Amino acid sequence: MSAIDELATELARLPGIGKKTALRLIYHLLRQPPAQSRRLAETLIAVGERVRPCARCFNLTEEELCSICRDPRRDAAVICVVEESSDIGAIERAGEFRGLYHVLGGRLSPLDGVQPDDLTVEHLVERTRGGGIREVILATNPSLEGEATALYVQRQLAGQPMVVTRIARGIPVGGDLEYADGVTIAQALTARRAM
Ligand code: ZN
Repeated sequence: MSAIDELATELARLPGIGKKTALRLIYHLLRQPPAQSRRLAETLIAVGERVRPCARCFNLTEEELCSICRDPRRDAAVICVVEESSDIGAIERAGEFRGLYHVLGGRLSPLDGVQPDDLTVEHLVERTRGGGIREVILATNPSLEGEATALYVQRQLAGQPMVVTRIARGIPVGGDLEYADGVTIAQALTARRAM
């Protein structure tokens, strides 16, 4: 396989990038000075080597704790549970939420072989058992799997003193939190209800 074909195959594995787009990106890079491609390659390696899950919330970070967990102005008594780190960016852009997060690392999906053990639910339960938590907001996506995941997490948290809420359905069913606009996310958070 030629170097171009090899790179095109790798790029086409990324979400939203087909073979055609991959080739367009490669031809673009080849028109740039070689130093440009080298910088891109080096930053890709740096991301892979330096970025890791936050020891508390599993958000992606380069430190032991992510910048949100380290921020003393955040309300540590409220935890917003999301599927992926990328969901945090969407909620932060909405500017409504001032608590901390917990990243599950996906959603329950028996068809794709994603079981409870593949998610960080156990860590969340441990985290809340430590006390001092007033509310856990379940902000998994409004898909069938997202709902099933929220229900599962709620059951695992049952018996603990804090309130467990679910974000409202401002987000369209089957929609993706990551792509929802700030106003929709802010409304969904404000209109959350107890489970
Ligand atoms: Zn964190």
